[in-house]
Amino acid sequence: MNLLAIEEPRSRPSERQRPVRLWHPRRVLVTPTALDHAHGRQIVARAERLGLPIERLKSNRLTGLRDENPRRAYVEAKATLAVVTAPPTKLKLQPIPPSADWRFDLAEGCPAHCQYCYLAGSLSGPPVTRVYANLDAILDNLESYLGQGGVTSTSQARAAEGTTFEASCYTDPLGIEHLTGSLSAAIRHFGAWNAPVQLRFTTKFAAVEPLLGLPHHRRTRARFSVNAAAAAHYEGGTAPLADRLAAMGSLARAGYPVGLTIAPILPVADWPDAYDALLRDAAEALADVREPDLTVELITHRFTPGSKTVLEGWYPGSDLPMRETERTRKLTKFGSVKYVFPSDLMKAMRAHLTERIAVRLPFAHILYWT
Ligand code: SF4
Repeated sequence: MNLLAIEEPRSRPSERQRPVRLWHPRRVLVTPTALDHAHGRQIVARAERLGLPIERLKSNRLTGLRDENPRRAYVEAKATLAVVTAPPTKLKLQPIPPSADWRFDLAEGCPAHCQYCYLAGSLSGPPVTRVYANLDAILDNLESYLGQGGVTSTSQARAAEGTTFEASCYTDPLGIEHLTGSLSAAIRHFGAWNAPVQLRFTTKFAAVEPLLGLPHHRRTRARFSVNAAAAAHYEGGTAPLADRLAAMGSLARAGYPVGLTIAPILPVADWPDAYDALLRDAAEALADVREPDLTVELITHRFTPGSKTVLEGWYPGSDLPMRETERTRKLTKFGSVKYVFPSDLMKAMRAHLTERIAVRLPFAHILYWT
């Protein structure tokens, strides 16, 4: 890597944003109970306005989505939106270290096609995008968790964030926002919640226009999931990297705390230069933001035997490096196996990224490396 190389003047990411392409599912399934909720009816109305084909189901169960060919089941499911009600178990929140005190879900599933999708290890069945109609209950439920956090709230460095709630563990809420409006509703909810709380979401999409004017009162941190440009071919169906960075700049100018979720970090070709270029572009996107409130989360690539099997079924032929012989085998605290990069490589990547963040984004606050 030559960090002293003269950099060509380039257009800023904020100047390169193209018209945003929004996902239009081929099928919209609606359960009867979803229609009992005003938010469910609003989602259906949005789908109707977009001219999407809507199937009103007779039962609340989604059936007929499985196929013995995993690739075919995947393709059909990824083109399907289901409007459902979140089951009562969804109202019992779980801690989600290291990101937040609590995880809550506005939806489950995502229309994009990332070959390293972290959902592969956590969702069961075909990856239909299920969006929740009982949004009022989901948001009203959060209040009982105020002040109860055991992750960020008990961290000396992060307690000032208040009780933190992560909304993107099982979905990309911005990627489906044009169909649901759920993320905007959550941002409004936290904006009106006059307490030490923070809504957190991360996204690989860029359609932030509807969020810009919301009364967020700085209680939402919008993080953009980004990677070195050499990894772009792994992220089918997402917004281009330059658009995500431009979207981050737009939200920062609208007063939102923002963040970079650099994930999954991979030793792509010339990885030191590749990640430095990413940080340079992120800095450019924020160049005209006065005192940007920026956090950085650093997540290396890992896989489990289960997630590898699912991803190989979804993306046969992917060149994503997932050879066990090139990894270190570790046990999670729950006793399951995961494969991470060898310790020397981890240390080298961590040292390099940390150093380049200090140079490129000196105002950034690194939340964690994992
Ligand atoms: S955008 Fe995120 S949730 Fe969606 S497919 Fe990609 S990694 Fe998975």
